[in-house]
Amino acid sequence: MPASTNPPEYQPTTHDAIVVGGGVAGSALAYALAEDGRKVLLLERDLSEPDRIVGELMQPGGCLALEKLGLSDTLDGIDGINVHGYVILDKNETCHLEYPLIPGPSPSATRPARGRSFHYGRFVMKLRSKCLQHPNVTVVEAAATGLVRDLHENRVLGVHAIQRPSKDEEVHLECHAPLTFVADGAFSKFRKDILNTTMQAPSHFVGLILHDVVLPMPNHGHVVLADPSPILLYQIGSHDTRILVDVPGSSYPSNTNGALVEHLRNHVAPQLPESGRVRTALLEALETQRPRVMPNPYLPPSKQGHVPGLVMVGDAHNMRHPLTGGGMTVALNDVVILRNVLNKRDFPDFATASDKQVRRALKTWYWERKRLSSVINILANALYALFSAGQNPAMQVLRRSCFEYLRLGGECTAAPVRLLACIAPQPMLLVRHFFAVAVYGTWTTFKRERIWWFPRTVYRNFATLATACRVILPLCWYELRGAPKAALAYLAKAN
Ligand SMILES: Cc1cc2nc3c(=O)[nH]c(=O)nc-3n(C[C@H](O)[C@H](O)[C@H](O)COP(=O)(O)OP(=O)(O)OC[C@H]3O[C@@H](n4cnc5c(N)ncnc54)[C@H](O)[C@@H]3O)c2cc1C
Repeated sequence: MPASTNPPEYQPTTHDAIVVGGGVAGSALAYALAEDGRKVLLLERDLSEPDRIVGELMQPGGCLALEKLGLSDTLDGIDGINVHGYVILDKNETCHLEYPLIPGPSPSATRPARGRSFHYGRFVMKLRSKCLQHPNVTVVEAAATGLVRDLHENRVLGVHAIQRPSKDEEVHLECHAPLTFVADGAFSKFRKDILNTTMQAPSHFVGLILHDVVLPMPNHGHVVLADPSPILLYQIGSHDTRILVDVPGSSYPSNTNGALVEHLRNHVAPQLPESGRVRTALLEALETQRPRVMPNPYLPPSKQGHVPGLVMVGDAHNMRHPLTGGGMTVALNDVVILRNVLNKRDFPDFATASDKQVRRALKTWYWERKRLSSVINILANALYALFSAGQNPAMQVLRRSCFEYLRLGGECTAAPVRLLACIAPQPMLLVRHFFAVAVYGTWTTFKRERIWWFPRTVYRNFATLATACRVILPLCWYELRGAPKAALAYLAKAN
């Protein structure tokens, strides 16, 4: 196989930054840095339109982050659907959660929060085309294969990459820049060498596209509280509705011997609404499509800056269960804060910035991002734990209590919806309402049970509260570990 190094037209040393991965985080970051006057090299292993079952519903917080980056127009012209809120379906009962108003500088500037759902590939192609059109971004179709390191200083100087101009031709590149940003997604090639965290997958999502269905409440994301775990439905195009069926555990019924299709047909379809052709459309989809499966990841965030010259962003750095559709919002919000802390005024030239200065900026980023990312991470994983209650009686109480609490109205509904919409960077607000759900569950249990069952009720309520603690406290710990005291002080101030 012919191989050459650094073709003459390639000028690796002229870039201020390299971004690995042209997905949501990488493309947005390359564009943001370029807008700040940096020369950026964006490496993406495959520039054709991706066809994936991820990143299809952007919460209002993500749309606001796109606005801050000057990338709002990437949501136009992709046959996207406005999202006004969520609906939770528990058998025949419904809980309607409408996104709130976003206050503006004046009353007339106040507007309703809006999310957007779309085909991931179409959105990513729009982000990439913004980079391709930007004079400061060089987009190269090449797979990064390793880091270029200065072994004496443990410094990252850039990346090795391979271009494949044709099927049997390989061009080896060695790209250099003062800063390398790795945004190569959930299955990051570089994570294990850099971060001390590993991805876990408590469940899988099985995805199909349903054609021409009418959801019970159009322009809303739908969560069906099914047995044993939730099902998501949202429209992603004029004729297309995504269904994501959660299958708990580290494995799932085989997709090769038909067991998965049987599971969807016999166990999942009967739990879907009959109205609007939803159930029929799933049965039709099973005849014509092969179900797509993705692990639902969990990866707590970690501090960075210990490897000079390198920053991990997006899913490569931090992931949560996709139940609440918060991943793209975290990635885009991270980009906004990174752009701010690495601004041109404080860092006129990355090449002359000291390691200490960059480390300090990344520390600020780590704590700044937490206000929103910790809310999204904890909410997603805690809600998933409740909504996949299984046979655990305490979890079942919490699941039902959560559903009823969200229907109470007032702040009981409004605050959790703001958290879900990713527009409330207030971790303590989340913790408060989570425990309010648990206490509400114990109160309704007391009201329901007869007086002579009092000791049993006390025991059950104790189990419910203990289970609530078991769900949320480890998640909080993973978010805050490293510097619990500093973190708690910071988060308290942030509320
Ligand atoms: C089942 C599922 C459903 C989800 N649904 C939602 C949702 O509805 N809403 C939401 O907000 N989030 C959702 N997410 C999360 C969301 O998809 C991610 O958080 C988001 O895509 C992260 O962006 P990223 O840029 O880090 O990674 P990606 O968008 O995955 O992009 C990574 C890019 O890196 C490229 N790449 C990989 N390796 C290399 C390499 N070696 N060299 C060069 N390029 C490379 C890839 O080709 C890809 O283009 C979902 C996740 C899952 C698993």
